[in-house]
Amino acid sequence: MPQPTIQYLTNIHLAAGAVDLLPDILDDLSAQRPLIVTDPGITELGLVARLSLPGGPMFDDVETNPTEANARAGLDVFRNEECDSLVALGGGSPMDCAKAIALLATHDGPLDQFAIVNGGVERIRPDKPPVIAVPTTAGTGSEVGRGALVTMDNGEKLALISPHLIPQAAVCDPTLTLELPPQLTAATGFDAISHCVETFCSPKVNPTAEAIALDGLARAVHHLRTAVETGDNLDARTEMMIAALHGGMTFQKGLGFIHSLSHPLGSLRAKRLHHGTLNAVFLPHVLRFNAPSCADKMQRLAEVLDVADAAVLPNYFQSLAEDVGLPATLTAMGVTHDDLAGMPEAAMRDHCHRTNPREVTLEDCKAAFDAAL
Ligand SMILES: [Zn+2]
Repeated sequence: MPQPTIQYLTNIHLAAGAVDLLPDILDDLSAQRPLIVTDPGITELGLVARLSLPGGPMFDDVETNPTEANARAGLDVFRNEECDSLVALGGGSPMDCAKAIALLATHDGPLDQFAIVNGGVERIRPDKPPVIAVPTTAGTGSEVGRGALVTMDNGEKLALISPHLIPQAAVCDPTLTLELPPQLTAATGFDAISHCVETFCSPKVNPTAEAIALDGLARAVHHLRTAVETGDNLDARTEMMIAALHGGMTFQKGLGFIHSLSHPLGSLRAKRLHHGTLNAVFLPHVLRFNAPSCADKMQRLAEVLDVADAAVLPNYFQSLAEDVGLPATLTAMGVTHDDLAGMPEAAMRDHCHRTNPREVTLEDCKAAFDAAL
């Protein structure tokens, strides 16, 4: 069966103040005892109070790049507190962790049997507690995405993917991002940019997703600098939240080589490398690598971004990353040559490059890591 072109079946509440709708959304889902899933940074910022939920059960031990152990620990709280639903508050990590907890609530582990590379799509059933996603960053798109990235017990960062993992509601309230620090604004913004670029360039036929990706990309590149420089600019924050949402809505078209390079490095727990920052570093290299295989699409990207010549697109994104304070190399992120051992092989095992416009080999992975170092 070919994949449907449009499968955007969730309720998206997008507005300043949308978070106030949460109690009604829970009511509509007959959810009476949600587990709030978040991380220590979010609790420190005091954002949990914005949920207008009376102090219910909470799990806030989600790591950056969540692990299978995080999901198991969250599941224990979910069961001990007799919860019936989950509210994920935060960036991609709490949202992906909440999806994994919801899955384990009705599906026996271990979690890696549900990873797409292990044939897990068929094993994920719809009977799961509802998840309401409340993003506090503008980047991941996980609030409307079918995927959850989890570092498994064996150390591999793998994707769980199923339409049944799409949150039952996404509450996209840009006021929750007003205090996001410049560095995280920039890094998560580049995650959204890389989603739009990679899904647009994916060779799968999905014109609807392509239109959404181009719209998201234009919003992101035009508003990221303002969102980074003037964090309390609600217009810029709203535009970035839309860009992230659109990036997430195009996921079903498939990502590409950038994400296959970022995922294994994201599993290096001691380094805590930010996914969006890694994408920003890899983006120019992958565009140069892909260009011969998708000249028409590069030209279209150049038109949308008002860039005279598609050949300068890699430098265009590199300059944007520099302007918003992101590092240009893996070395600047603290990655060493030794950290790259086994990375090309892990990148080859990642599912994302299967929808890259140019076929990727192990040699290509090695060359890309070396070029980005
Ligand atoms: Zn991403």
